[in-house]
Amino acid sequence: MVREIVRYPIPVLRAKCRPITEVTDEHRQLAVDMIDTMKAANGVGLAAPQVAVDLQLAVIDVSHNPQCVTYLRINGEDADLVSAMPIIFINPKLDLGKDKATDEEGCLSFPDLRAQIRRPSTIKVTYETLDGQTVTLETDGLLARAFQHEIDHLNGILFIDRVSAAGKIGVMRRLRRLQQEWAEDDE
Ligand SMILES: [Zn+2]
Repeated sequence: MVREIVRYPIPVLRAKCRPITEVTDEHRQLAVDMIDTMKAANGVGLAAPQVAVDLQLAVIDVSHNPQCVTYLRINGEDADLVSAMPIIFINPKLDLGKDKATDEEGCLSFPDLRAQIRRPSTIKVTYETLDGQTVTLETDGLLARAFQHEIDHLNGILFIDRVSAAGKIGVMRRLRRLQQEWAEDDE
C-alpha cells in the first residue's frame, strides 16, 4: 500500500528515530508499504519519518542504475548490485570513508528541489534486517550517497542541512514556499 509522503517542514522529519528492538508484523507491513511508496514516487530511497513514523527503518533501491557503484561488498563478499535491491535496513551504524564527492541530490519530502551536496564517497554500514540478521555492506557511488541520505533522515538531519553556504541562497526561495504551503495546509 502506498502511504502519504510527508513534506518539509513537518516536525516528524526532525525526529531522532527510535531503534527497533523487536521486529513485528507492523514493521514488516511498514517496510512493504515504504517500498511501494518509494517506487510509486520514483525515489531511490525512503526513510520511515518520511511516512510519519519515527523508527530506524529505511529502504533503498538503485537497481535502475546498475553502473552507479564501482564495488559492492556484503558481509565481506562481492555482491551483485541489482539482485541486492531493494534493501530494507534497520538500526544502521555508518562508517564514512575519507574521500569526498559532490553530486546532485533530491528528496521526496522536498518536491521540486535539487541541490549539490558534498559527502564522503565510500561507506561501510552495518544494519539489521527484518529477519534479525546483521549485515555489513561496503560501497561507493550513488548507493553510498543514498545510505548517508537515508541514515541522516533517521537522525532528523535533512539534505538541506548539508548544502554549502553558497548553495543555500539557491534553495532558500523553494524552502520558504514549502514552509508557506505547510502553514496553509495546517489552517
Ligand atoms: Zn530524503
